[in-house]
Amino acid sequence: MNIWVKNSSKNLLPLSEEKEDFKIALKEWIFTGEIVDHETPIETCELCEKDELRYHFEIKNQLDNSLWVGSKCIEKFDITIFDEHGNEITENKDQYLQKQARKKHIKLVFENLDKTDGKGKTNDRNNKELDIYCIDRYNLEGKLDPKMLNYLFKRLDDENIFYDKRFFAISLKKEENKVKLLNLNGEQFERIKKALSLTQRKYYENNKNKYTATNMGLAKVGL
Ligand SMILES: [Zn+2]
Repeated sequence: MNIWVKNSSKNLLPLSEEKEDFKIALKEWIFTGEIVDHETPIETCELCEKDELRYHFEIKNQLDNSLWVGSKCIEKFDITIFDEHGNEITENKDQYLQKQARKKHIKLVFENLDKTDGKGKTNDRNNKELDIYCIDRYNLEGKLDPKMLNYLFKRLDDENIFYDKRFFAISLKKEENKVKLLNLNGEQFERIKKALSLTQRKYYENNKNKYTATNMGLAKVGL
């Protein structure tokens, strides 16, 4: 028996109705939907005892015992998951749980932003108004344009709200969004860089100089 199964059996069997067979005991357990984000990888899985977990996912059985575990354990031990509509998730459980954790994180970030007074203006528009715009847009599309994402990250920084840049995303499908990206200066690009895919970063790096030069040329023609 490997150490992983050994630890897990030791921790699970005493809390299960089934006291002998680990595989049978596992079937009693179900993911509750509760996720805790510890923000840095400091936690331990109460099942296999693996450490350096950032997220804890709660599992429970009918004896009302619960354990806070890592998403990998839920996947490898095939612990039952139902989504919010009551449909069972049978594949890629780790991926599903990671996605739920990201969604939860973003929801919390927006709640914290919503609690701020939103005083002050950016480009002549009220911050509160822009905050609401960002939140609505993100909830609708799961993405923002590069300019709005830069605004959002700056607001979160100014308000000292904890957020994970990697969980956010931009869309470059529309031509105007590409222009908005190329219009960002170096500091603004650095601010949103972690939210960008490798292709999106390359697009900026490969086109920024060309774009700036062309615009300067146009400005001269305009004179
Ligand atoms: Zn584990």
